[in-house]
Amino acid sequence: MKLAVYSTKNYDRKYLELVNQHYGFELEFFDFLLTPQTAKTAIGADAVCIFVNDDGSREVLQELKSLGIKTLALRCAGFNNVDLAAAKELGISVVRVPAYSPEAVAEHAVGMMMCLNRHIHRAYQRTREANFSLEGLIGFNMHQRTAGIIGTGKIGVAAMRILKGFGMHILAYDPYPSPLALELGAEYVDLDTLYAQSDVISLHCPLTPENHHLLNATSFAKMKDGVMIVNTSRGALLDASAAIDALKNQKIGALGMDVYENERDLFFEDNSNEVVLDDVFRRLSSCHNVLFTGHQAFLTSDALTSISETTLLNVDQLAKGESCPNVL
Ligand code: NAD
Repeated sequence: MKLAVYSTKNYDRKYLELVNQHYGFELEFFDFLLTPQTAKTAIGADAVCIFVNDDGSREVLQELKSLGIKTLALRCAGFNNVDLAAAKELGISVVRVPAYSPEAVAEHAVGMMMCLNRHIHRAYQRTREANFSLEGLIGFNMHQRTAGIIGTGKIGVAAMRILKGFGMHILAYDPYPSPLALELGAEYVDLDTLYAQSDVISLHCPLTPENHHLLNATSFAKMKDGVMIVNTSRGALLDASAAIDALKNQKIGALGMDVYENERDLFFEDNSNEVVLDDVFRRLSSCHNVLFTGHQAFLTSDALTSISETTLLNVDQLAKGESCPNVL
């Protein structure tokens, strides 16, 4: 059994190799993305393993099919980058890792909130230059403030659990309310109410064609002045260009982005020696109240172990013709 594994970094290889000691698959690692141009490199493989920014479009799937690939294994939960209808037509099984460590992502989201709120990123820069001025570093108590959680699945509920510990009021929006969220005391409201009443809004829903740019100029206008928004879900849930205007007129008081709609050309690589041509990223990252992290919310040793275990188990179950609960 041979797997062509795309978009791999040293940490992916380390954890996959460790878990593969149990399976003994042949793993061929590529550091580049799966795209229509690179799909031919899967030749000789039985399964292809991809991550969030790899291309699972019809064009790529057709190429994989012509190479005899029967399984596409996602090393992530989100599957917005894969054309599932095309995969079904072509007879390619798509498997994912639905839950590897919701706490990893939730903890990162809350870390971004705390960093932005208490200006820790600015204090870090200042104190390195022996600037101990506190001007401009005023935050607010999370205690008694209101958090609006959009998407109350595994990660949303994990985030709520932490925010509840701060003593925050929790508003929630999800077409399918969660008993766990209700147990934590979350109050389900419509989106407009969540926008109007939340001090901090955190996105934890998947990206679908229906919620592309869910947070846009219209929704920003409905929010409290100075609202904090954190997106650790998928970049295109938030209209980044509209966010620039909302930051300029101080509607958005702080913006945390672990994901970004144009991240595919930037993230996971060291671009520090390049001229970054993405003007939207440039403008956002020049704001002191915007914090970017490069899609790293999942990046804990616990999550990497769990991702590797589930990915290889998924592939093994399909190869043996066993039922696999993680087929999409
Ligand atoms: P989940 O499936 O457990 O929960 C998603 C929830 O979102 C569900 O309850 C669903 O009903 C709800 N939902 C769907 N459409 C919605 C909408 N339009 N508005 C509000 N709610 C909606 O998923 P999860 O494990 O909690 O993951 C959530 C998302 O987090 C993933 O889809 C992925 O995009 C993102 N994610 C990011 C990272 C990262 O490293 N930054 C890592 C893992 C997952």
